[in-house]
Amino acid sequence: MRLDIISIFPEYFSPLDVSLIGKARERGTLDVHLHQLRDWTHDVHKTVDDTPYGGGPGMVMKPEVWGEAIDSVIGPAGRPRLLVPTPSGRPFTQELAQELATEPWLLFACGRYEGIDSRVMAEYGSRLPVDEVSIGDYVLAGGEVAVLVMVEAIGRLLPGVLGNAHSAVDDSFAPGAMKNLLEGPVYTKPPVWRGREVPEVLLSGHHGKVARWRRDQALRRTVANRPDLVAGLDPAGLDKHDRRLLDELSFRAGPEDVAN
Ligand code: SAM
Repeated sequence: MRLDIISIFPEYFSPLDVSLIGKARERGTLDVHLHQLRDWTHDVHKTVDDTPYGGGPGMVMKPEVWGEAIDSVIGPAGRPRLLVPTPSGRPFTQELAQELATEPWLLFACGRYEGIDSRVMAEYGSRLPVDEVSIGDYVLAGGEVAVLVMVEAIGRLLPGVLGNAHSAVDDSFAPGAMKNLLEGPVYTKPPVWRGREVPEVLLSGHHGKVARWRRDQALRRTVANRPDLVAGLDPAGLDKHDRRLLDELSFRAGPEDVAN
C-alpha cells in the first residue's frame, strides 16, 4: 500500500519508523511518503493560513497551497483515496480501517488551525474518493496525531504485518462473532502475582469453558463500558446463555425467539 502524508510537521511521523509499521515499511508492505506542505508556498514566510471569511477566531488553511501540493503528489492521472482528519468528519471505526486496508493508495491531508478551506475537499471530491474522518469526540491541535492513529490501525491489518494474523480476529470491534463486543481481560504467566490469581478456568485446558468465560467477560465489559455497543448486537448472534447474562446485567437484548 502506498501512503502519502502532507503536513506542516512531517517530523511528527517519526513513530512510523518503529515497531510493526516500521517493519512493514522495511519489508515494502507499506510505502510511506511524507511531504512538507510549505514546499508549495511562494512567499518568503511560507504562509499556509489566512483569516476566516465571515470573521471569528483562528486561521484557516489556504486552498491554493493545498491544491498545488495535492496536484503535485498525485500527478496528472493519480487516483488515491483522500483522507482529511477533522473532528467534524465521519467516525473512524475498525470497519472503516478494514475498508481502507484494501485500498492501494491513501493520501492524508493534515489540517492545523481551524482546518482546511472547504473548497479543497469539494474540488478533489469531484475527482477522487474523499473522506473527512474524525478519530473521536474531542479536538486535537492538528491532524498529525489522527493520521498516526489511522495509519497504525490500517497498517496492522495489511497481510503479513501482524505476527499472528489471528490476533486481529479476536480484537475488540473485529467483525464476525465478536462484532460489537469489547475484548475481555487477558492474563499471562505467572499464575499468581502479588497474591492475585489468574482465573482458574484459563488454566483448565478446557477450550469450551475458556471460550464461554471469555464471551461472558466480553459481554460484562461491553455492558459496563459501552452499553451503546450492546444495544447494537445482532440478536441472531446471541445464544441462551448470552441472553441470561444480559438479563442478569439488566440489559434486554432483542426478541427472545432467535438463536438457541
Ligand atoms: N475548528 C475545528 C472544529 O471544531 O471542527 C477544529 C480544528 S482543530 C483545532 C485542527 C485540526 O486538528 C483539524 O483540522 C484536524 O486536522 C485535526 N483534528 C482535531 N481533532 C480531530 C479529531 N477528533 N479527529 C481528526 N482530526 C482532528
